[in-house]
Amino acid sequence: MEVQERLQDVVSRIQAAEKSAHRKGAATLVAVSKTFDADAIRPVIAAGQRVFGENRVQEAQGKWPELKAETSGLELHLIGPLQSNKAAEAVALFDVIETVDREKIARALAGEMQKQGRNLRLYVQVNTGLEPQKAGIAPEETAAFVDFCRQELGLSIEGLMCIPPVEENPGPHFALLAKLAGTCKLEKLSMGMSGDFETAVQFGATSVRVGSAIFGAR
Ligand SMILES: *Cc1c(COP(=O)(O)O)cnc(C)c1O
Repeated sequence: MEVQERLQDVVSRIQAAEKSAHRKGAATLVAVSKTFDADAIRPVIAAGQRVFGENRVQEAQGKWPELKAETSGLELHLIGPLQSNKAAEAVALFDVIETVDREKIARALAGEMQKQGRNLRLYVQVNTGLEPQKAGIAPEETAAFVDFCRQELGLSIEGLMCIPPVEENPGPHFALLAKLAGTCKLEKLSMGMSGDFETAVQFGATSVRVGSAIFGAR
């Protein structure tokens, strides 16, 4: 199958999941292009996809300035951990940062957005499985952290993001993220990847991050 066919297949599966959840048009596809170069991404842009995700700032800098120059209206999401020494570059290149998970990075982003006059959309990453090796704030600290970002730093947090533990049933993690978003009065939920995006749509995802099902194995 060509990459455009795989893209169309994923789009159709999202639409079917939306339909069965009575959530028509509710989930945005973020096409995760990490490890693939500009030449591999161009056909997906040509097929009409406009929202993309990358997990490393430096890798994204190597391809997205040129891709953004070629096509207007592209939206780039950072979905991997951010170091504060990369905040300036991240704010300059990305439109959405989905991995805000600690005070230090929230402060760095607030400072850079002010300095650059850019207002990025932000998500707080939640470590729903409390995995020690995984980024994200603990579920029970999420509400206080969102309040801190809003009140102390004046950031407008748009939603929550999670990556469930690979070996677990993702449903309970998606349900927990949805519950936390309700508590925090946040409308956006970034959850679901190639293996579980239909489940995520069922649990209220407003965006799904799909890589290998579109671009192929990494
Ligand atoms: C790589 C990645 C994805 C996409 O994973 P696939 O299984 O290839 O769809 C989604 N979210 C994050 C945070 C990722 O790093």
